[in-house]
Amino acid sequence: MDLKPIELVDTYDRAFPYLRLSITDICNFRCEYCLPDGYKGSGKPNFLSLDEIRRLVTAFAELGVWKIRLTGGEPSVRKDFNEIIDLISHVPGISNTAFTTNGYRLAKNAKSWFEAGMRNLNVSIDSLDRQMFHKITGHDRLPDVLAGIEQALTIGYDSVKVNVVLLKGYNDTALEDYLDYIQKRPVTVRFIELMQTGDNLTYFKKRHLSADVIRDQLLDRGWTQNIRVNGAGPAVNFTHPDYQGAIGLIAPYSKDFCLGCNRLRITATGDLRLCLFGDIGIPLRDLLQHDDQKAELQIRVMKQLDYKKSSHFLAQGETGLIPNLSSTGG
Ligand code: SAM
Ligand code: SF4
Repeated sequence: MDLKPIELVDTYDRAFPYLRLSITDICNFRCEYCLPDGYKGSGKPNFLSLDEIRRLVTAFAELGVWKIRLTGGEPSVRKDFNEIIDLISHVPGISNTAFTTNGYRLAKNAKSWFEAGMRNLNVSIDSLDRQMFHKITGHDRLPDVLAGIEQALTIGYDSVKVNVVLLKGYNDTALEDYLDYIQKRPVTVRFIELMQTGDNLTYFKKRHLSADVIRDQLLDRGWTQNIRVNGAGPAVNFTHPDYQGAIGLIAPYSKDFCLGCNRLRITATGDLRLCLFGDIGIPLRDLLQHDDQKAELQIRVMKQLDYKKSSHFLAQGETGLIPNLSSTGG
């Protein structure tokens, strides 16, 4: 398929064909590092409507974006989730529809989401031990989530990935569990270093550790680090001939992580974020009210790219605007 040339390029020559769109910041889980006390809404939710989402995605697709990931909060809590999938998958130019989920509704809905046009899934599973999963997320749902993945594999999603936030003392010695899981399943498990956000400093200090601990274990077990493809995003991937699945490492604190940045983000209320940890939110919603505002919207987005910084400066403790990842979408 011919892709439209990407017009979203920043001053460091990074291109942005990938948009992460948060559609809600509501979540039903209570992950210790994200929403330990559960979702606390501030007033009546006012998330982007279907029409606003259509205008936004259409404008970005015309600038060369071809991949959209829906995220949140938990995106599947939205009652119009199927309509959102249907809408984005029919926008001309969008060839890759993805979403990140805690998986609580996956077993029930994997088929209808696929039929609506969803093709790529990232499911968060921080432990394959039922009790530990319960402890981390506040929900005893591991069997349901795993059943959902089996459904998705049977249905034939293009890709199924599992996100694991690496947590010292919880899952840093659990690599073997995940390797057993992917030996006969075409699933990529991605270990993500815990990131510091506005709300989680104490937790971060206690549980953060470098993804090098997983890298070392993989190399010891004969896994091979794949050559990075240009524009492939920040994950470093490993494969092994005896395994159907793969392992990815996402290490935001590593040197040069931001060189591979290929994504922009939109919050559930329509602000553009140039970086997950950026300290500016650029409101776009005023330009999502009528179809004839598209050109103005595109100009605003293009101009803002000049302000995208080279790096997130997380290592210096700068967490930008976000109290936790549910508010911007991880
Ligand atoms: N609720 C969905 C889920 O959990 O998959 C989607 C939103 S969640 C914010 C997206 C991803 O960000 C999840 O894989 C989650 O584990 C991860 N995440 C949340 N807070 C994080 C943090 N402080 N550091 C690293 N990853 C985090
Ligand atoms: Fe919810 Fe996802 Fe945050 Fe967990 S990580 S509390 S599932 S938004």
